[in-house]
Formats: sequence, structure tokens, C-alpha cells
Amino acid sequence: MPEPVPVFTDSQIQQLAAEFPTPFHVYHADRIRQRVSDLLAAFSWNEGFKQFFAVKATPNPHIVKLLHEAGCGADCSSPAELVICERLGITGEEVMFTSNNTTPEEFQQAADLGAVINLDDASLIDQLHSEVGMPELISFRYNPGAEREGNVIIGNPKEAKFGLTREQMPGCYQKCKELGATRFGLHTMVVSNELEHESFMETARMLFELAVEIKEKTGIAIESINLGGGIGIPYRPEQQPLDLQRLGSGVQELYEQILTPAGLTPLKICMENGRSMTGPYGALITRVINKKHTHKRYVGVDACMSNLMRPGMYGAYHHITAVGKEAAPLAGEVDVVGSLCENNDKFAIDRELPEVEPGDLLVIHDAGAHGHSMGFQYNGRLRSAEIMLESDGSARQIRRAETLDDYFSTVEFPESSSSAASTESLVKQ
Ligand SMILES: *Cc1c(COP(=O)(O)O)cnc(C)c1O
Repeated sequence: MPEPVPVFTDSQIQQLAAEFPTPFHVYHADRIRQRVSDLLAAFSWNEGFKQFFAVKATPNPHIVKLLHEAGCGADCSSPAELVICERLGITGEEVMFTSNNTTPEEFQQAADLGAVINLDDASLIDQLHSEVGMPELISFRYNPGAEREGNVIIGNPKEAKFGLTREQMPGCYQKCKELGATRFGLHTMVVSNELEHESFMETARMLFELAVEIKEKTGIAIESINLGGGIGIPYRPEQQPLDLQRLGSGVQELYEQILTPAGLTPLKICMENGRSMTGPYGALITRVINKKHTHKRYVGVDACMSNLMRPGMYGAYHHITAVGKEAAPLAGEVDVVGSLCENNDKFAIDRELPEVEPGDLLVIHDAGAHGHSMGFQYNGRLRSAEIMLESDGSARQIRRAETLDDYFSTVEFPESSSSAASTESLVKQ
């Protein structure tokens, strides 16, 4: 098996750690651009193919801007994510708004941006129509229920709160047409971190057949089909990446086999990957601060779950290497832990690592998506900075680390604007 090319070299990490205090997240601009162009190339057979970056994966405006310049639209599911697009000038059909349990105000905000609204329930049709107005283009999210198995991260579709049933779909399109919609999209999101080619083929087949069924039942021709995101990344060294070229040509075969005979082509294929666009091209850099040997051996680092939740929350694997010690012999199993008063605050459990010492830099790999963005402030631990490594080798801070002032900013008010006292005056009382 060929060794994957490391995203960051040891000397790059050492230089970054000399410039910025650990812990921090770092992203590799060129590798992200390359990833976008690889995905676009795989679907170049499809005129109008669009990849909407799932903003929640890495909601840093600098990253969303880079992805947009590389050819991605944006997939948003909250007001803040819509505002990121608005501030970057990403508008109209470059934005997809897929939300769940949404208020009319949020639909209004999405409509103001001209975003494609992707409805998650039949009851939202009337709400949208009466409060916001039926847009020209409307999309629906399909939940296949027992038809598909889903996967570990996203769960079983039958138990998932997202989307509409197959029986509901044709009537929903029909109703929107009666209310004035003239263009229609179809969407699903059933897998996450999926590395199996066949799973994406099943998704494409399922949606293509559903589009045919909708046409047969209603006469409505869907113009775009969004296969969702969910392309996985090889978090474990022994895993292989999904072959994007094979994905593209597999979808093309099904397109020609199912959609063309039904008179539904040309039709735009869309995806909304988050993880696979930035995940492997970002890392969390942290320093060893303690070693401890009790019932187990522990390596304590200066990052914690505030910086990266996935291991603590899902038991997710993130590969960890020690800078300068990649070739050193393994020295037994350790738990790599943070400082939270929460026993889930572990980046790795029973992980074979070389002998590391306080001061050593550790790289927690594949932290470029669902990493910083899932961070929190539990225990008063603050979220770290994000750094972009640019093409010319320079490093640019694209988000500063939080400070104690940020931490107190939501509880301290000017006396006049609120009944809450400042924490300083609380102390004095
Ligand atoms: C989270 C999410 C995505 C992105 O998922 P990845 O696994 O990061 O590719 C895409 N679409 C929707 C609706 C999502 O909720």
C-alpha cells in the first residue's frame, strides 16, 4: 500500500508552532483546492454539476471563500451559515438551504439570499407559501426509511428526523406546482463518512428511480438531483480513499441507464460534501504537557474536546503522530487526553505511540472538518485559533483563539442595557 503524502511536513509544523501558540488548527489551502478540482473533474461529464460545500463542516468564512473561488457553492442549514454566504457575496442558486425544524424567519432569510430552499416536510409547503411565498425553484429532501440502511454516523434513515417519505413526495411536488413553482430539485442525505463506492451507487439509483416515478405520477420533470454529502475520508492508516473518478463514472452510467430513457436528461447532478473537501487537509496541532502512569498510561496534551469533539463524542478514530518521531519505535499503548473534568476527553484510547515527552508536538490528523466547528466552551476551555497554510508557504491566521474576554462577553452587559450585573459587580456585592 503506498504511503499517503503527508499534508504537512514536520518542518512546516515546527515553524507554525514557533509562530502560534498551541493548540491550533491548520489547513492546507492548495490541498483543499486540489480536492475540489478532483471532484469537479470526476463529474465534468455532467453539465451544471455543482458541489455545495456543507458549511457546518468548517464554517470559517476564509475557508468558505477559498472553496467558492475553487468552484463550490454552499450548503447552509442555519441563519449564521446564511450570513457567512451573504458576507462573502455567495448568493442565488449557489446556496442551498437544507434545514430541519425550521422557522418561517429562516426561510425568509434564505429566500432573501435567493438560496435554493430544500424542504424537509410536507407541512412546510403551506408555511413557506403563506409566510415567504412559493419560490420558482423548490427542492425536497427524501428519507428512504427502511429502503436504506444508512450508516454509523448518520444512523438508520427510519429513525432519522430528516426528510419525507416516498409516498409523500409526488403530492408535495404537485402542490408546489399548483402554488406557482416551476422548477424542481430532489435531494437526500443518507450516509456520512462513507467509503464504500456501492453505497453512493445505491443513493444515485434510488433518487434517479424516484425522479422517474415522480414524472410518471405528476408529469413534473425534476431538473437537479442532489446526492447529498457523506464522502468519507480514510481516518485510519489502513483505509483507502473513495475513488472519485469511479464515483463520477458510476453515477454517469446510472444517469444514462435510468434518467435518459425517461426523458429526464439533461439534468444537473449536485453533491454537498463537507468532510471530504477539507477534513484530510486540516490538522489539530497540540503539545504534550504531562505524562502519567496509574492504572493506565496517559499522555496529557494542551488541546481538549473543546478543540475536537469527534473522538469523545463518537469514539471516532483520528490518527496521531509525534513530530520528529514518525519513525521511532512504538513504546506501548497510551490514552491521549485533554484537561476537561470529563472522562470522554480523550483523543485516543489504548493507542500505540512512540515514547513522547512534555514539549513534543503531536499532530491529530484529519481534523479539517467537523473539528473546530464542533468545539465548545465546557469547563471554560476556549476554542483555538485556525491557521491557513498558503501556497507560498506563509501562514495566515484565519481565526484567532478565543480569549477570556470572549468567554465573559455574553454575561457582562453595560448596566443600562440589561438587568444582569457585570460579573465584576457581582463579586463586589
Ligand atoms: C452534514 C451535512 C452534509 C455534509 O456531510 P459530510 O459528511 O461532511 O459530507 C451535507 N448535507 C447535509 C444536509 C448535512 O446535514
